[in-house]
Amino acid sequence: MQIASNLSKIRNELPADIKLVVVSKTQTNKSILEAYQFGERVFGENRIQELVSKQESLPKDIEWHMIGHLQTNKVKYIAPFVSLIHAVDSFKLLKEINKQAKKNNRIIKCLLQFHIASEESKHGFTSLGEMNSLLSSQVFKGLSNVQIIGVMGMATNTNDEKQIRSEFKALKAHFEELKQSYFSEQKTFKELSMGMSGDYQIALKENSTIVRIGSNVFS
Ligand SMILES: *Cc1c(COP(=O)(O)O)cnc(C)c1O
Repeated sequence: MQIASNLSKIRNELPADIKLVVVSKTQTNKSILEAYQFGERVFGENRIQELVSKQESLPKDIEWHMIGHLQTNKVKYIAPFVSLIHAVDSFKLLKEINKQAKKNNRIIKCLLQFHIASEESKHGFTSLGEMNSLLSSQVFKGLSNVQIIGVMGMATNTNDEKQIRSEFKALKAHFEELKQSYFSEQKTFKELSMGMSGDYQIALKENSTIVRIGSNVFS
């Protein structure tokens, strides 16, 4: 692996205001430390056990992002330290995050995940209607220990650039609609988490603000 040279190549392509989440799932602590020594401080994981054990053993100034599907009964394990949960895909999950955040005396930042891909397997809200009923409810307004700072999505795993581009455009449009309808007073609602190793150049052109890159770093 040429982690440092991979990272410098990626960093050179990323505008300064774009956030990079180094996706470290399945990687060893040694490899993660190499990225850390290069200067990276934001890492993303998609399995709870792995996330918890890496958080315990790696430097404490790392910001850990949970990027994968999160089961409600697992929230308690990461609530003490997680800095951003990317894939909130149900109201039930959001309520549990709020409950566990409260127990830890924290406000946990979250992104709402939209299902934009054509594959069945990917999680996320499928319509703005579903999202509208969540965001306009009284219960949502009472969730004072979560802060929604934007949206996240994954494009279809395909070589068809046109399809990827149109899925990212749809996500951006959803983001703008939510911002206008529910978050116009909140400057903190500004993040669009889209783009992985295979499609982040396209995502950047479609106004992504956070890219999540794993394989291009650890190869
Ligand atoms: C694995 C993963 C990534 C990174 O994928 P790469 O193709 O390795 O860059 C990004 N986002 C999510 C949600 C992932 O699970």
